[in-house]
Amino acid sequence: MMRVAAAALALGMGLARGGAVVVMLGTGTPNPEPERSGPAVAVIVGSRAYVVDAGPGVVRRAAQAARLGFPQLESKGLTTLFLTHLHSDHTAGMPDFLLSPAVTGRTEGLEVYGPAGVAAMVRDLMRAYRVDLDIRLRRGWEPSIPAAYAMRTHEIRKDGVALKTADVQVEAFRVKHGALRDSFGYRFTTPDGKSVVISGDTTLSENLMRYAQGCDILVHEVYSANALKRRTPEWRRYHAAFHTSAVDLGRIAARVKPRVLVLYHSLPFGDPPDQIVTEIRENYPGPLIFASDLEVIR
Ligand SMILES: [Zn+2]
Ligand SMILES: [Zn+2]
Repeated sequence: MMRVAAAALALGMGLARGGAVVVMLGTGTPNPEPERSGPAVAVIVGSRAYVVDAGPGVVRRAAQAARLGFPQLESKGLTTLFLTHLHSDHTAGMPDFLLSPAVTGRTEGLEVYGPAGVAAMVRDLMRAYRVDLDIRLRRGWEPSIPAAYAMRTHEIRKDGVALKTADVQVEAFRVKHGALRDSFGYRFTTPDGKSVVISGDTTLSENLMRYAQGCDILVHEVYSANALKRRTPEWRRYHAAFHTSAVDLGRIAARVKPRVLVLYHSLPFGDPPDQIVTEIRENYPGPLIFASDLEVIR
């Protein structure tokens, strides 16, 4: 925690120069590890926060990051969400992200970017909470801001620019997540040329390597190839098609040459986490961070 606080304090200088800072809100997987929230990564650009994925715990981790020096992640700043794909480990925090900030400080609506199906997911979640919405917005006595409940969805159908503002360009690109065809990674680029790439869930993807080439920060999922050997043939088949082994991630990083490789959504399957680093090191000698929740990468 000391390390996170120190990094947060150092942030001021970074923002003065512009550019993007990454705050790991959740580094976990479907496994309910208490110290790792579900997948969620915040990219902070100037006064704004862009959150990629809404795994369980995302809103509380954002509040924790706000206390550590990132006011962009207070409730009122949770206005832009990108989803890599619609698997539950990346979206189980969605109702929290849609609704809690609207009660606790958000004054404008929420923009949600994601693959086909995201509009229906948001619409159905709002419908599922109709009792709550009715009492908060209409029949209760609670002071409320209706605009904060306005949900605008943007479905991404192909590679390319998903959002462009004066401060940042966000490109979406398809990755290979087995049978889940509509899965994207994102590349954030700021006007000073700083770039952050987030893999989402994918097996080795040529398209990711194209978009990530020479980026500053590559946040990538990973599993241990060695530990997977102990699992059943069904699980081995699944992981090979849906996720990236540490040996392959070493190959990816060796080709992409990021300024720093950041591991999240990691599956050591009971092996010591160091095993993953050992496998990556077979092919990639460069800078590497095995991220914890609330880790700050600049
Ligand atoms: Zn997935
Ligand atoms: Zn996942």
